[in-house]
Amino acid sequence: MRFVPLATLFVFAVTPAIAGNVIFITLDGVRYQEFFGGVQKPGRATRPRGMPLFPKLRSSARAGEAWIYGDGRETGEFRVGNLAALSLPGYRAMLSGEFEDRCRGNDCENIDRETIFDGMIDRGFPARDVTAFTSWDGLGRALESHPGRITRDVDRDPYPTTAVDPDEKSRAEAIMRLDSADRPIWGARRDAYTFSLAKLYLERHRPRFLYLSLLDSDEYGHLNRYRAYTDALLRYDGWIAELRDLLAGMGEYGEDTSIVVTTDHGRGRGWFWATHGKKVASSFRTWAVVLPSAKLRSEGVVRPRKADGYSQLDIRPTLESLLGLPKVGAPSANRTGISLVEP
Ligand SMILES: [Zn+2]
Repeated sequence: MRFVPLATLFVFAVTPAIAGNVIFITLDGVRYQEFFGGVQKPGRATRPRGMPLFPKLRSSARAGEAWIYGDGRETGEFRVGNLAALSLPGYRAMLSGEFEDRCRGNDCENIDRETIFDGMIDRGFPARDVTAFTSWDGLGRALESHPGRITRDVDRDPYPTTAVDPDEKSRAEAIMRLDSADRPIWGARRDAYTFSLAKLYLERHRPRFLYLSLLDSDEYGHLNRYRAYTDALLRYDGWIAELRDLLAGMGEYGEDTSIVVTTDHGRGRGWFWATHGKKVASSFRTWAVVLPSAKLRSEGVVRPRKADGYSQLDIRPTLESLLGLPKVGAPSANRTGISLVEP
């Protein structure tokens, strides 16, 4: 136990300028090209070039409700926080906030450094408030350095047992039945089911921190199925809007909830769009969006941090600042991230 009582005291001693709930969403392997520029690849089987793939998010940005980072013009470029441009290293960088070169692939063992989940548990947040719903089972190895302390629903995990309400239980079981009868060729849970389970949990338990990790986009990318990849992106845009509608009907909890959306890596250019990794330069470039809570927007206490460049290492400080937590983890040469929002 490392300074837990002290750290807990610190949380209550400090009155942070901002404090709220956060929904963190990652969309696996969504290129900045589509995020900013819409449909890229022309051809009979795809939609018109330039057609927006995140139209609802863009209209929120125009309304000042979403802050977008990484377009390379109004804001600097957004880069991955590791040397691999692969999924697991990317998730580790975002969740730990620490640069490392130890995990270079998707088969690394469980993360051995403190993540934001560990930090929240160590500060006394109950497990029901520290939650992760992921489509990909591999991500389970990047969530917490001491596995089993948070509420997690990773791929084939059962719906978290904190749910006791019979109606909630039967709804979760219905979703899980659909999932097991509808496994895609890549074997993971389809995002539609991950999303439904996370939404159910959000409605019933109103957690302080909910992480929703979606995967279909990357799988369709590797399969070189551009139309299905763009379909996934449009679905994500719709789901983010659906979550915002849900929050709008949840009273004070909803008004106090911010959303952060990003990706774990980019992909190649042109014909190389299906792949990504160390040898594919454009897969190191990504993007991020912050949707500050209605309360933060109305109080005007935060604004987007303008910079020449951003990195995945900024994600953990961003989540912490929106949650109102003091920056956790010892500062070090490898923890150089800065929150994307500032007072
Ligand atoms: Zn991939």
